[in-house]
Amino acid sequence: RTRKRFGQNFLHDNRVIEKIVHAVAPRPGDFMVEIGPGLGALTAPLLVASEALTVVELDRDLAAGLPGRITQPEKLTIVEGDALRFDFLTLVQDNKPLRIVGNLPYNISTPLLFHLLQYGSQVQDMHFMLQKEVVDRIVAEPNSKDYGRLSVMIQYYCKPEFLFEVPPGAFNPPPKVTSAVFRLTPYSQKPLSAQDEKQFASLVSHVFTQRRKTLRNTLKGKLDEEGFARAQVDPMARPENLSLAQFVALADACTAYTG
Ligand code: SAM
Repeated sequence: RTRKRFGQNFLHDNRVIEKIVHAVAPRPGDFMVEIGPGLGALTAPLLVASEALTVVELDRDLAAGLPGRITQPEKLTIVEGDALRFDFLTLVQDNKPLRIVGNLPYNISTPLLFHLLQYGSQVQDMHFMLQKEVVDRIVAEPNSKDYGRLSVMIQYYCKPEFLFEVPPGAFNPPPKVTSAVFRLTPYSQKPLSAQDEKQFASLVSHVFTQRRKTLRNTLKGKLDEEGFARAQVDPMARPENLSLAQFVALADACTAYTG
């Protein structure tokens, strides 16, 4: 029996499991973390290839059953709890960045990604499976319908890579939509950085809540023509037309404008 509220769709297609483990390519010495191990479809092969793996699983029964499903339980550390509330920094040892993997619960994908972005380069990379529609948004470029808050915020902190699609039949029970596996590599040195990251995040969120409106319209009272000129952004543009660099410039101009 699966618990729908925990977003449980268990992988059973060995070819897909192998492809994910191959993409992750765990090496001895890596510090691996898996979010939502479930029945251990990924946990078992990841564990074979690595020295140590910590898993974070919300479902008490699944967490309890996990040691019985794998061959080397001594290499496994089980955290029973909510990945959304878990402080992943507590797992960092000797300053070695974490490698995080997960076939994520789709119902908490956005908050979970935002939670993980805050760790910056304490995370070496992340390999996740999500609905393809969400992955398309994560990797989207400006001037496309998928480009939005998720694209801008993730691309500010990480380099995203679309890896491959996974059909519903690879899971039990099958989800309604096609899934995709992707990689996020947090920048150790961000290529662009806003003067005030809170301001940047709230600007991005604000303008995309009205994505059909021009920036002049949505930023009325926050930025004058001079500010737009300083940021070198056309006030008649819509948020989907702006590059990441332009969002950063716009946020910096707003900071200067509002003091
Ligand atoms: N990794 C397994 C697989 O590929 O077969 C299971 C994937 S299933 C899509 C998502 C897993 O995340 C489930 O085991 C579910 O119980 C767990 N989960 C759901 N919400 C969670 C949360 N907030 N924190 C940690 N685990 C969670």
